[in-house]
Amino acid sequence: MYDVVVIGGGPAGLTAGLYAARGGLKTIVYESNVFGGQIVFSNEVENYPGFEKGISGMDIIDKFMKQAEKFSVELSYDGVSRIEDEGKIKKVYLNSNTCIITKTIIITAGASANKLGCPGEKKFLGKGVSYCATCDGAFFKNKVVAVVGGGDSAIQEALYLSNLAKKVYIIHRRDTLRAIKILRDRASSNDKIECVCNSIVKEIQGDQLVNGILIQNTQDGSKKRVDVDGVFIYVGTTPNSGFVSDIIKTDDSGYILTNEHMETNVSGIFAAGDIRVKSLRQVVTAASDGAVATESAQRYIEKIAI
Ligand code: NAP
Repeated sequence: MYDVVVIGGGPAGLTAGLYAARGGLKTIVYESNVFGGQIVFSNEVENYPGFEKGISGMDIIDKFMKQAEKFSVELSYDGVSRIEDEGKIKKVYLNSNTCIITKTIIITAGASANKLGCPGEKKFLGKGVSYCATCDGAFFKNKVVAVVGGGDSAIQEALYLSNLAKKVYIIHRRDTLRAIKILRDRASSNDKIECVCNSIVKEIQGDQLVNGILIQNTQDGSKKRVDVDGVFIYVGTTPNSGFVSDIIKTDDSGYILTNEHMETNVSGIFAAGDIRVKSLRQVVTAASDGAVATESAQRYIEKIAI
């Protein structure tokens, strides 16, 4: 039996794993996709303390993983289909048809990129449509790209793409960007970036590859085509909480409700990172949540004493 099963291998999960294993708890972290979660798609993290020159998402996760492994955390590639609460014992059902028994569970499954849902998005995935500038930006050297969205992710990745592409359009549905001021300022002083506000993408067009987008002005309804070679979509995220929604309470958007100790509505089950209701979703707050969740799990294990 495990002391702690962590579900999700992003910054929150890896930190929870590190703290648990370092605290002498038998711990495993399951990741169904890529260890690191969304941050591995980020070209630069410049607000995680200790890296004054910034660090790429891949590199910081590499460090998180190495540090966790140093304390003998088990890191496993497997998805979790559901969990069951049997009081002092919890059951974790894996996609590989195995059932794991544990005293506590920390849910750190994060959130996934939203889709635009317009014609052409699916058809041109990998042929000009991308959700990861760091992964695919190099294909658009000296080309024209559009970034859809107005949040921190969209503006940060538009800035990254401006180092490669000859022109970057930011297509945003409102007249003001949601992103923080430092990113907005950098975008507005960047000659290669043009913000097309009050506009939504109606269609992604192309032949074999993307060659343009059809956008509609939200004020007057007029439509126009913009020639682009690539479309990078950053229109927010949805929490990956569906697999626990039968027993864990969430808000209307699916984010898990916790208290400041990362406790959910079920005793012995905790949640940390982007998957929970919180005001600031960053690597530093995910790591902090992970540490707090493990501290709470440790106290719970001492209390139930099995
Ligand atoms: P976000 O903050 O939710 O922003 C999503 C953007 O997409 C918003 O501008 C939204 O428009 C737009 N949008 C949503 N649905 C759309 C649709 N159907 N069509 C067109 N536009 C649509 O998401 P995010 O930028 O991915 O950020 C997620 C979290 O990570 C945030 O908490 C953010 O602060 C954090 N983050 C931080 C950093 C950093 O600190 N450097 C970097 C990346 C992300 P509206 O503005 O009109 O709602």
